[in-house]
Amino acid sequence: MNLEDYLKSRVDPLLHDDFKRVFDSQVAHTSALACLSHNTRIVLKDNISGAVTLTPLNQIWIERRGVMANPNWRIATLAHESRHVLQGGWSTSFEREIDAYCVGAQIVAELGLNYQYFNFTPNSCNDTFEQLVQRVRSVYPPHPLYGANGPAPLKQKHGLADAFEALRQLWLLLLEQRRAQSA
Ligand SMILES: [Zn+2]
Repeated sequence: MNLEDYLKSRVDPLLHDDFKRVFDSQVAHTSALACLSHNTRIVLKDNISGAVTLTPLNQIWIERRGVMANPNWRIATLAHESRHVLQGGWSTSFEREIDAYCVGAQIVAELGLNYQYFNFTPNSCNDTFEQLVQRVRSVYPPHPLYGANGPAPLKQKHGLADAFEALRQLWLLLLEQRRAQSA
């Protein structure tokens, strides 16, 4: 499938231009290509905070309010979430979050955007693993997986453990979405 057909059939129209910039970038091209080849659906949601990639459902959800409010966040987020599609597997981990935040920081730098991507810069990505875990935890402390007390594993799980971890994560995220909708 070519890029235009993919965008038309699977990606919210508000994201088309930014997805193309991600696709054309050095640091996130392979990530955007992974979305295209997996035919990943990218949708806007009203009742989430931030964004999430649900690998088992082959979907990326992005908060509509954030998309409308901040074009720089939007592009860094597209790079970040499509990195999760490239990472593959079923579940995620702090290891994978760090990698995705660093890609987000790198695309901000590559495109010269005047934007501080949370507390991630290409330089800070050379910090120790423990420091980077703390950076992820501080982005959004209430996050059900990666917040201050979030239960995501530090290192990525593989094989059967990956599948079980994915079910647990999906459950926690859907619970959180239900909670947000009823609040
Ligand atoms: Zn992420």
